[in-house]
Amino acid sequence: MSRLRRQQRGSGSAAPTRGGSRKGASLREGAPARPHALHLFGDPVEIDALRGRLLAWYDKSRRDLPWRALAATEPDADRRAYAVWVSEIMLQQTQVATVIDYYNRWMQKWPTLQALAAASLEEVNELWAGLGYYSRGKRLQEAARKVVSELAGRMPRTAEDLQRLLPGVGRYTAGAIASISFGQATGVVDGNVIRVLCRLRCIGADTSSPAVIDCLWNMANTLVDRSRPGDFNQALMELGATVCTPKSPLCRECPVKEYCRAWRRVEMELASASQKLFGKTTLVPDVEDCGTGGCPLCPPTAEPWDSSLGVTNFPRKAVKKQPRAERAATCVLERRGRLGAPEYLIVQRPSSGLLAGLWEFPSLPLAPGLQEEQQKEVLADHLRAWTRQPVQTQSLCFVGEVVHIFSHIHQTYVVYSLCLDGDVALDAASSPSRWVTEEEFHASAVSTAMKKVLKARETQRGAQSGRAKGSKRKRESKLGSAGSTSTGMQLSLRAFLRVQTPP
Ligand code: SF4
Repeated sequence: MSRLRRQQRGSGSAAPTRGGSRKGASLREGAPARPHALHLFGDPVEIDALRGRLLAWYDKSRRDLPWRALAATEPDADRRAYAVWVSEIMLQQTQVATVIDYYNRWMQKWPTLQALAAASLEEVNELWAGLGYYSRGKRLQEAARKVVSELAGRMPRTAEDLQRLLPGVGRYTAGAIASISFGQATGVVDGNVIRVLCRLRCIGADTSSPAVIDCLWNMANTLVDRSRPGDFNQALMELGATVCTPKSPLCRECPVKEYCRAWRRVEMELASASQKLFGKTTLVPDVEDCGTGGCPLCPPTAEPWDSSLGVTNFPRKAVKKQPRAERAATCVLERRGRLGAPEYLIVQRPSSGLLAGLWEFPSLPLAPGLQEEQQKEVLADHLRAWTRQPVQTQSLCFVGEVVHIFSHIHQTYVVYSLCLDGDVALDAASSPSRWVTEEEFHASAVSTAMKKVLKARETQRGAQSGRAKGSKRKRESKLGSAGSTSTGMQLSLRAFLRVQTPP
């Protein structure tokens, strides 16, 4: 057994377990296995040093982001918390680069909770359009209304109260708002933090398991800097986003590599390989496996350390639930607008459920196994209800299939187009509907999926007009060659006349 392994085991044996018992006692039958000290932060000197390194790096390397500027300069605590809250909700599942523009427009339009509370859901959806996960905007507004109407416009000041009182605010968002806006010393755990912590402490167990989640939250709460909690949390997330990235971590540039057990394992392997070149053999300790057996944080025995992966052995990839496949028929219904440009019919979705309140082309879910003719029939029926006029299946023109992945749904839109002559009276009894120009369509609260549908229709129109132009050119070229015969004859005639005309 190597010295390192002995040291690790030695420190582990002294670790107190739940109820203050010792390791030996904790292995009583039925007692849950307690994580080995290898996976935890227990040394106050190391914790202090790690905090210092991380904060110094953050002060020097952090990205300038609009929400950070607001959090640092806004003197009003409620406005500051609101600014952080909006950014945290927008950043869930969305890249920073995409969020910046949305965030700036949002804060310009609704700089306070009161302004957001007074907005309509339609306006919120319009600004959110394209950002995805639309329920986030809706829930943010609902919670803002609650703060204004029930809490006198005052944001709860602690992570516990934020999570308890505000709908849609989970543990992570509550921790982020409380630490960044109010300086509460509470940790946060998001995808970036999970990755960094799992690598720092060689955690290879399933990160969606309750035992691992608990451990990561405890670790984040232990590590968070007491005097600069907001900066510390942002630094940890920034490290995950820019240095400790999922596929190509920049370990050599990492400010906390000295405290990283995954990196230590890689370095030892490198050292061992170079010693082998000189004919020496050294044992590389299994630092990713604490060797206690049944450890809730070690990788499963069936998935041991893979040297070719280096530090990216951690965290273990979560088994993703496959999104369910769904199909819908949708129709780009067009008419000629006032200036001859096409106008499209869009209808509003119900106010709850997927894409609540957003606008879309008339669509309906398709039962599995429908043949093309049957799909057209159900779609024609659906359109009849909107337009209150007969729709022939033959007039539906197939555009193509558009696939869009929502978080849990693999959605295929079977797209048709239909051009209508004259004005069409819309059925006011159905959900709200309206005709829009292309520009109005893009300014409306429509999903990215519907933008893809319109693009498919425009591509089809381009191809159709290309074909029409092609056949027109063919006709003209036939006429042209007939004309050139004629021109040729004229030239011959002129030439004849020139020859015949006396000087
Ligand atoms: Fe991540 Fe590498 Fe830094 Fe460890 S040393 S925290 S793996 S970037």
